[in-house]
Amino acid sequence: MPANIHIIGAGLAGLAAALKLAEAGESVVVHEATAFAGGRCRSYHDATLGMVIDNGNHLLLSGNRAALAYLRTIGADQRLVGPPHAEFGFVDLASGERWTLRFNDGRLPFWIFNPARRVPGTKARDYLALARLLRPPPGKTVGEVIAADGPVYRRLVEPLLLAALNIDPPQGSAKLAARVVRETLAAGGRACRPLVARDGLGSTLIEPALAWLRQRGVALRLEHQLHGMQFSGDRVTALDFGGETVALSGADSVVLAVPPYVAASLIRGLQVPTEFRAIVNGHFRIAPPKGQKPLVGVLNGTVEWIFAFPGRLSVTISAADRLLDTPREALAKTIWAEVAAVTGLSDELPPWQIVRERRATFAATPAQDLKRPGAETGWRNLVLAGDWTNTGLPATIEGAIRSGNRAAALIASRHSERHA
Ligand SMILES: Cc1cc2nc3c(=O)[nH]c(=O)nc-3n(C[C@H](O)[C@H](O)[C@H](O)COP(=O)(O)OP(=O)(O)OC[C@H]3O[C@@H](n4cnc5c(N)ncnc54)[C@H](O)[C@@H]3O)c2cc1C
Repeated sequence: MPANIHIIGAGLAGLAAALKLAEAGESVVVHEATAFAGGRCRSYHDATLGMVIDNGNHLLLSGNRAALAYLRTIGADQRLVGPPHAEFGFVDLASGERWTLRFNDGRLPFWIFNPARRVPGTKARDYLALARLLRPPPGKTVGEVIAADGPVYRRLVEPLLLAALNIDPPQGSAKLAARVVRETLAAGGRACRPLVARDGLGSTLIEPALAWLRQRGVALRLEHQLHGMQFSGDRVTALDFGGETVALSGADSVVLAVPPYVAASLIRGLQVPTEFRAIVNGHFRIAPPKGQKPLVGVLNGTVEWIFAFPGRLSVTISAADRLLDTPREALAKTIWAEVAAVTGLSDELPPWQIVRERRATFAATPAQDLKRPGAETGWRNLVLAGDWTNTGLPATIEGAIRSGNRAAALIASRHSERHA
């Protein structure tokens, strides 16, 4: 009987694992608890706005090589839009200044020597402090490695790390920050082009993956929640889906690509990150003004990034736990007042929606990072995937996809060992 690989969870980690395993000719079934694939990276029809929106705006950078390879596999890489060179428009709400940060393409950061390209109010030597963030001592926070002050920090490092780590940067793991900086800023402008799924996360990252998998005979079972696993010796022997138990044959394997708190409930004794940070998104049904860039950074406001989509402006606020109890309408008004100030649109509140993801990502502190398990488990036919596993990256699309790829590679290597 051919071996079956059961992937639990149809988020990006599970889908990435499914792609790799299906590509390798394995027989794959994906089981998803909810009625939709995509997990924390999804689109849905919002009844209040009367349009399809994303649960949250997601930004990729051109240096996210695994994410781009995933998109190429499913034929959707052209659905990301971004400028031809790395540039980021910023508005400082406190001073009213506006500028565009323009990185040069190559690795050598010539842009820091050019006042028209670098952060206003900075000198080239101010950027030297960033070198300390490239190889920090283990176990340190960002705040213990660099001074969380000055214009380079406030206008470049803070917005970058807040978006990438989803934590107030001084508390964030310097190791995770270093990885982000090495793979983006320090890799040159070619790795820093901002890329956005203009027509939605679903039609870019999820639906084309599902179509690709369907064509290769991969079954996706929605509303099929894994309730428990049976273990015997060094193997998982059965999957309990509530009404249905699937017995695993000797060659069958499982990729558990669920959030950390679910994984911990399914595997006794598994250590996982236990603290999280929220992300708040505000969506407004209104045509972006002519010339509005797809992405604008906002400093000294509640809003951090404004994304422009056809017929909609959307705002992202990271590490937003402080806003979880703010009444929704008050929050929508605060956010819109800032968007109106940045875009020049009327301050009359358009139709709006606030989406708060309480456990958007694990808290990227050094202590939580230490709790991330690797892909391998104590059971030969069970591997873990998910942005919270020990990818070396913060919880991002790139990390989720790399974790799925790694889980698939482990299973493939075990299968080839068995056949050797
Ligand atoms: C609002 C928001 C904004 C973000 N912005 C960015 C960004 O700009 N850039 C970026 O790179 N990343 C961003 N992220 C992070 C990114 O979305 C995640 O890193 C990524 O989607 C995680 O994928 P995953 O597969 O690891 O986990 P998940 O997406 O959580 O997938 C896990 C899946 O498992 C399913 N599941 C759970 N329990 C069971 C069970 N018992 N049985 C079967 N299935 C189960 C879940 O329903 C889910 O579909 C953002 C996240 C949020 C929430």
